[in-house]
Formats: sequence, structure tokens, C-alpha cells
Amino acid sequence: MNEQTLLNELLKIQSVTPNDNGCLELISGLLQDSGFEIGRFDKNGVSNLWAIIGKEGPIFCLAGHTDVVPADKEHWNTDPFVPTEIEGKLFARGAADMKGGLACLVTAAINFIKNNPSLKGRLAFLLTSDEEGAADFGTKYVMQELQKKQIQLDWCLIGEPSSSERLFDFARIGRRGSLSGILSIHGQEGHVAYPQATENVMLTYAKFMYAMDKLDLGRGNTFFPKTSFQPVYVHSDANAVNVIPSSLIARFNLRYSDEWSFETLSSQIEKILNSLSCQYKIEWKNAGNPFITEEGHFSNVVKDCVHEVIGDELTYSTAGGTSDGRYIAPYGTEVIELGPINKSIHKNNEFIQLDHLALMTKTYERILEKMLT
Ligand SMILES: [Zn+2]
Repeated sequence: MNEQTLLNELLKIQSVTPNDNGCLELISGLLQDSGFEIGRFDKNGVSNLWAIIGKEGPIFCLAGHTDVVPADKEHWNTDPFVPTEIEGKLFARGAADMKGGLACLVTAAINFIKNNPSLKGRLAFLLTSDEEGAADFGTKYVMQELQKKQIQLDWCLIGEPSSSERLFDFARIGRRGSLSGILSIHGQEGHVAYPQATENVMLTYAKFMYAMDKLDLGRGNTFFPKTSFQPVYVHSDANAVNVIPSSLIARFNLRYSDEWSFETLSSQIEKILNSLSCQYKIEWKNAGNPFITEEGHFSNVVKDCVHEVIGDELTYSTAGGTSDGRYIAPYGTEVIELGPINKSIHKNNEFIQLDHLALMTKTYERILEKMLT
């Protein structure tokens, strides 16, 4: 089965998150035929596949997801679950995010094993059906289970759509942290004519905003843009023009570079709040710590292989939203995301360029050869 045939089969399966609906069954059959040992870590309606081949040594893991976001048939030109080829493009939900990358990863691995039966190290797959949803019982859960079995992943290549304008112009080498704060400030209700007797929570909030705006959040670095602070909500009201309200609630988010950690960033902000000598409460929600795969052997191999197969330069970035890389990297695994063009993902009429498939498979296969032989 070549990558396009496999992709077609996967696209026909309505695997709307978190319902795998048989995708992993199809893939595990193919991997088993190639000699992979198959393990399943299904949990709470989420399907997870772990497959591994090789006797010993470092583990190179290929990772991804079979689930897709829903598709509203009404707004598509073709049936989103009937892969349709039009002028060199294959239209279907999941074509780019990420059954395209997945079909090419699986095909590359099978080709690689056929040509290199005695690999150096081990090759594994970690696939889930819960990346687009809550993501609690997908990759995050499998990583916890692998940790219990003392299985350590050394490198991980994820076929997520990382490319922007042309195939493999960008790969993701890390991701910014995301920290949200829910702040409540408590003062004292009072008459506007007698402000000296009260503490106006809105003035306190204004001072906090001013201090945050002035706060030096760093400059960013080669891979991370400058940390940004964005207030997103504020509310305070005493329902009368002559009454100072007694409390205020506000929310804000920071996308932060690896110059910060959750601890350093949150304590810096609490320091500012403490300096305002007001009564406040803050609830932190840290959606993910920043991570970066240091430039080295793995990133050089990926860059070289892209150059060799595509003939263009690959740029590493940390832009974009979340992916399962955030659950893998904290275990000390070097993670790189390299996949198709992401312009149509999560949109109506999602597609993948058909002539990109063979190039993707070839690049993935070269990466495996350079890392595992
Ligand atoms: Zn995805």
C-alpha cells in the first residue's frame, strides 16, 4: 500500500475527535506485518497505539493523531469524508491535519524497515485519537504509562502540518508557554463623594495594568518571540453612578518564551500585585511550559534531509498553537514537528497537495536512515 492509498483509506473513516473509528486498527495491521510489536493504551473512549521495533538502544518515535475536527457538509464543495481529487489536490477532512502526515510517516517506516531490517536503535509509533479534543487521555496518558514502564523516547518526529507557503519551509522545534491569570481585587464599597474612606478597585487595577505594561518581559531569542501580555477581560460595577464598587475581576494571558518558567513569571506578577498593597486573589492556569529542542544532531539531520529531498532551506520556529509535542518534550525527548502546508487546516474544503505526499515520505525515510542506521 503506498501513502496515497493509505491516506484515502484513512480519510474515508469518520474519525471525529475522539472517535478513532478503526484508523488505528488499519495502521496497526500494517505495522504488525512489518514486524512491529503492538500495544494499545485505550482509555476513556480514546484510542491509543504504541508500536515498537528493534531490540535495544535509543528510541526514535513517530507521533501523531487519527482524530479530526468536525466538518459541516453544508459548507464543503465535496463530501468531507469522501476523499476527492481535483486538479492535483486531495480534498477531505483531515487531509492536512493530519492523516496526510500520518500516512507518509507509516509508509516511510515500512519502507525503512524493509530496506534496513537490522536497525541501530529502536523505531516506535505513538498515535492517539484525542489530539483535537480534551487531550487528557491521549498522548499525555500514554507518556505517563511509558514512564511507568521506564520507556524513554530519545527523539520524536511529529507529522503535524508545520509548513506555511511551500512544503517544509518551516518545522516546529518548540512551543511558547501559555499562562492565564484570573485576578480578583477586593476593595470597599463607598460613596464617590467620599473616596478617601474607600479603596477604588478600578484605580488599583489601572495601576496594575500600568505596571504590567512597563514590566520588562525580555526580548525573546532566536527561536522565541518576545513574551506578550494580553489582558482579555475586566469587570467591575456597583450598578449606580455614585457608588464605588467593592470588587473587580479580570483575566489575562501571557504567551511566554523560554526566558521564563511558570514559577518565575507568576511570581514576578504576584510581586507587582503585592506592591500595590491591595487585597487580591489570583488563580493561575498554565496550559503548557515553553519547550525547545536544542539545535544539534537531530535538528541538523532533519534540515539536511529537507534540503536533500526538497532542495530548499528549512526554518525552525516556535510559532502556532498547541500540539501533542507539549506532552512529550517534558520527558527530555527532542521533539520536531515537520509536516504539510497548514493553510486549509480546520477549515472547510481542507486539502493536501497530492505531489507532496511522495516528497514527504521520502524525507521522513531519509531522516530514519540517518538517525537509525
Ligand atoms: Zn493536528
